[in-house]
Amino acid sequence: MHRFEYYAPSSLAEAIDLLHTKGEGGKILAGGTDLMPQMKERGRHPKYIVSLKDVAELRGIRFSEQDGLRIGAGTRFAAVREDPTVKSRFNVLVQGAKLIGSLQTQNLATVGGNVCNAAPSADAVPAFIVADAEATIQGPDGRRTLPLKDVFTGPGQTVLAADEILTGVHVPTPPPRSAGVYLRHVPRKELDIAVAGVGVFIQLDESLQRITHARVCLSSVAPVPLRATQTEAALVGQTASEELYQRAGDIAAGEARPISDQRGSAAFRRVLVKALTVKSLTQAVATIKAAR
Ligand SMILES: Cc1cc2nc3c(=O)[nH]c(=O)nc-3n(C[C@H](O)[C@H](O)[C@H](O)COP(=O)(O)OP(=O)(O)OC[C@H]3O[C@@H](n4cnc5c(N)ncnc54)[C@H](O)[C@@H]3O)c2cc1C
Repeated sequence: MHRFEYYAPSSLAEAIDLLHTKGEGGKILAGGTDLMPQMKERGRHPKYIVSLKDVAELRGIRFSEQDGLRIGAGTRFAAVREDPTVKSRFNVLVQGAKLIGSLQTQNLATVGGNVCNAAPSADAVPAFIVADAEATIQGPDGRRTLPLKDVFTGPGQTVLAADEILTGVHVPTPPPRSAGVYLRHVPRKELDIAVAGVGVFIQLDESLQRITHARVCLSSVAPVPLRATQTEAALVGQTASEELYQRAGDIAAGEARPISDQRGSAAFRRVLVKALTVKSLTQAVATIKAAR
């Protein structure tokens, strides 16, 4: 590993100030589960590191019925996975959290790291996107908030400036008769990267027949996590049925923009998108009906 300067500020303001004054060429360190392998094996050599380990204000999970769920960017996936409110009200986030590597990985890996690493295969991101998450970003000029889906600009690329820090994500309280599901395909059961993933969020009408709201997000099949807007439009207003899920699966497969690589061909990924869309829609609707 190359030499670098190391800073461990104890407040968000101090961390931002460091990034601002030291300028380009630095890297933020959260759990290090992406950054450390990149520095050791993949030729990433930051001039300096700003560790967030002592920035307590970035950690924590808060919920209120009016405000929804707020998760600090420095919160580890082990905490997300075990939080009673997240488990009971935002289960799709638990599904995403549980897929991040192993239990050991989840003890280190943070929400902010999964977002800001900006891997098209990031497993927590589609779960947050279908839950309608917003990202809060802070820099020397203040704070800004934007839909999480708009944070990503390409593989490993985000809208964050070099002196900005993701401070957290906000998820609104889910409406009644709704559920989200995130599923991925990996060749191995664990410790593998998604060949394709699909997150869905569905709300049904009072009679539990018709879909009133739908969000669909595809992972590992485009340069960024991809909102499948044509699929969403095809679902809204329709009666939930196997035939509809199959049609939605076909549209989602068409919306995907996969590449072929060592993990799977583009054609295989489209087949996976269809299968995962059908399965996740089936599970989401079944979850809503079971809760009645
Ligand atoms: C064995 C193993 C298995 C894994 N399996 C999976 C998996 O199945 N699915 C999956 O999605 N990921 C997986 N990962 C990747 C990784 O664990 C996750 O992406 C994790 O969430 C990264 O979080 P971190 O806190 O470790 O980030 P770090 O490695 O500390 O940082 C990642 C990137 O985000 C930036 N960053 C971190 N926090 C902030 C912030 N608050 N503001 C701005 N920039 C920030 C860093 O500068 C860096 O560029 C795996 C990793 C390992 C080592």
